[in-house]
Amino acid sequence: MTSMVGIQYDCIVIGAGIEGSATAYHLSKKKKKTLLLEQFGLPHSRGSSHGQSRITRFSYSQEHYMKMMEEAFPLWSQLEKETETTLFKNTKLLVIQKPPYDLLDNRKRELLKCGKPFKELTHEELRQNYPGMKLSKDFRAVLDHSAGTLRADKALRGFQVQFEKQGGILKDEEKVLNIIPGRYVVVYTNKAVHRANSVVITPGAWASKLLKPLGLNIPLQVWRINVCYWREKFGDFDKMPCVIDDSTGEKHVYLLPMHEYPGLVKIAYHSGIDCDPDRRDEHATTDDREVKLIQRFINNYLPGIDGNKPVITESCMYTVTPDWELVLDHHPSHPNIVIGCGFSGHGFKLAPVVGKILSELATGQEPSYDISALRISRFGKSVVSKASL
Ligand SMILES: Cc1cc2nc3c(=O)[nH]c(=O)nc-3n(C[C@H](O)[C@H](O)[C@H](O)COP(=O)(O)OP(=O)(O)OC[C@H]3O[C@@H](n4cnc5c(N)ncnc54)[C@H](O)[C@@H]3O)c2cc1C
Repeated sequence: MTSMVGIQYDCIVIGAGIEGSATAYHLSKKKKKTLLLEQFGLPHSRGSSHGQSRITRFSYSQEHYMKMMEEAFPLWSQLEKETETTLFKNTKLLVIQKPPYDLLDNRKRELLKCGKPFKELTHEELRQNYPGMKLSKDFRAVLDHSAGTLRADKALRGFQVQFEKQGGILKDEEKVLNIIPGRYVVVYTNKAVHRANSVVITPGAWASKLLKPLGLNIPLQVWRINVCYWREKFGDFDKMPCVIDDSTGEKHVYLLPMHEYPGLVKIAYHSGIDCDPDRRDEHATTDDREVKLIQRFINNYLPGIDGNKPVITESCMYTVTPDWELVLDHHPSHPNIVIGCGFSGHGFKLAPVVGKILSELATGQEPSYDISALRISRFGKSVVSKASL
């Protein structure tokens, strides 16, 4: 490792997942000299932003995200134009629930609040429209017309390509080992020493590993998620909307229309198994409780899918906060260190706005959104160690 400090940057962004890449993109749009660092060779599938599809929608139970999504959609289409790539597909989203229908009713209220079109489907309509699905009569369903999917890998690449076109410097295979706060923040990597006016830390599941040495103990749980692909028997699953079954509460089974692998449908569970991000795949197994839950869902309600076993299982990670809210804030003791983490399994769709907010925090601007619910102070004073004050 060299001890020479190289170029002086306006900002260094640590972690080139979707949140860091979107942040770097916004910083370079502001003409800030920006370095984006990534520990692995790009592209990689060892974090949380890989794969080909993510669900997106306007409706949210929290008003702050609902407001952010109003801007996220146009920002995604701006990236589509800049990179001449299609990123959004308006597949729609079918939300289903068995009694007590509380979450489904909430979804309807949210859709009404954000003024987006939806339709309640009768049992007969469900049967006719989705032949691969057979729900029991006690299910109710709402079809959200403005929702759809984002092409995840292409979106990630899009932000990175635009960032470089706008003058940003992207270095992969360069792992950050140490961050030294100060008027200028000094960043030690396995290859070099860099210096910047500010640093944005967006390391996904590795957040605690970088934040603890900076005196921050944010309560973050890292889960390995089994992303399972199941064989289609019949039912035109390429024409299905996304489906979320709210019957099991916040931790639900969800399905995306057939896309990544011909003949295989992605069905996953919105929860996972605790893991260390550096040892994610050591204990991966399709015997997991989560896979069995998906299997039960398929065997009960999806006759068009072979629920015997997943044909392909991939891994991805959620970094979850106790309230499932994101963390977007300055370090409490070092205002030129900005943190974006804890995206709790729903951060992809928000990334263009997250990037905008983090770029504002890193350049001393007022954030364009009310982020009080996302501040570190919500976890109490005990998450900040005395050493960092
Ligand atoms: C299976 C699955 C399904 C999901 N579905 C949806 C969905 O439908 N809709 C939605 O909105 N969201 C969804 N999400 C959530 C969304 O994908 C994540 O919130 C988002 O990708 C998080 O991005 P990130 O940039 O924080 O993390 P990451 O993508 O993991 O990026 C962090 C990066 O930092 C790098 N890094 C870490 N430490 C260092 C270091 N020391 N030095 C240099 N680099 C470092 C890592 O290698 C990594 O590349 C899903 C997530 C998963 C796993």
